[in-house]
Amino acid sequence: MNIATQAVQIGLEWDTRTGAVTVPIYQTATFRHPGLGQSTGYDYSRSGNPTRQALEDGIARLDGAARGFAYSSGMAAIANLLLLFKSGDHLIVTEDLYGGTCRLFDKIFTQYGLSFSYVDTSDITAVTAALQPTTRAVFVETLTNPLLKFADLRAISALCTGNDLLLIADNTFLTPYLLRPLDLGADIAVYSATKYLAGHNDTVAGVVTVKDPQLAEKVYFHQNSVGAVLGPQDAWLTIRGIKTLGVRMDRQQENAGRIAEWLAAHPRITKVYYPGLPGHPDHALMKRDSGGFGAMIAFEVDRHELVEQILLKTRLISFAESLGGVESLITFPEVQTHADIPPELRARLGINNVLLRLSVGIEECHDLIEDLRQALEG
Ligand SMILES: *Cc1c(COP(=O)(O)O)cnc(C)c1O
Repeated sequence: MNIATQAVQIGLEWDTRTGAVTVPIYQTATFRHPGLGQSTGYDYSRSGNPTRQALEDGIARLDGAARGFAYSSGMAAIANLLLLFKSGDHLIVTEDLYGGTCRLFDKIFTQYGLSFSYVDTSDITAVTAALQPTTRAVFVETLTNPLLKFADLRAISALCTGNDLLLIADNTFLTPYLLRPLDLGADIAVYSATKYLAGHNDTVAGVVTVKDPQLAEKVYFHQNSVGAVLGPQDAWLTIRGIKTLGVRMDRQQENAGRIAEWLAAHPRITKVYYPGLPGHPDHALMKRDSGGFGAMIAFEVDRHELVEQILLKTRLISFAESLGGVESLITFPEVQTHADIPPELRARLGINNVLLRLSVGIEECHDLIEDLRQALEG
């Protein structure tokens, strides 16, 4: 069944007693036991809650996973996954990583003896060269942030299988609608559901999907032990968001493709990063492996002063962090989302003082282009 169709079905048959079409919000901390040593399947909401489980089962189905897990944020989800490793372990990670993930790795988990090598994971030779005897996993962003490089998951997966490494894919930018990392060889997929999955800039949430049932059991143990679970209200909002994932993604991508072309032709724009443009280095690979190119665009303006002008003058497009929602947002990665990346690395990656990142929403495309035009030319 098509992913868009499956997404609409989440939670649909949950409440057999009343036949409610949407899963109820089980706003309860605990559950009554029917008898001594008996359970309804739910005991305490950290360990399991029906609304959260509807989301967890739903996202597992979308990704073709054994199980899914929902957390209070994308960062909580990633932090939980790092508990699979122990002191002395080494991970190879995507170099143009989401700033918050980089901060979590470098400022927190290094204190517990983990080490990380940052490489261009769209380059399999670079990934292979970073292997160490203590390497236990490769952590990639399937489409990177903000420069939109696409990882060859099949090739990385072959390397991981040969070296007994876990492959963890942050698939936030693509979602199961466009790419299912577990089908391409990843063991675990992780999402900031705050972005495209929930999709309305109104909920902070994270989800994880795991292919192998035994590994999933471990992840569940960590989820329940640490307890950074998603509450029932936010689980419900995330389900509601996911139901429209297909139509939102279609519209956002279509808008992004047209805006990327418009930007590429504008005299004040010196560079456009969008994998849907044929000149993008990963265009062909993405065409092969992904159902689409997503709706994130990064671009450079011809002088720094234009950055502030655009951020202040866009009216429809809000100057705000985050991405993936129905409202278009624009941000300045160097001082915002990527401020926690070391300056040398930022410079090497091309995150500079003329780079802007645009998350394209579902508005009418012409309106968005006019907004950009008046901000750029005004
Ligand atoms: C936003 C984001 C995160 C962090 O998720 P939160 O929900 O903000 O905690 C992780 N990875 C990527 C790629 C993101 O865009």
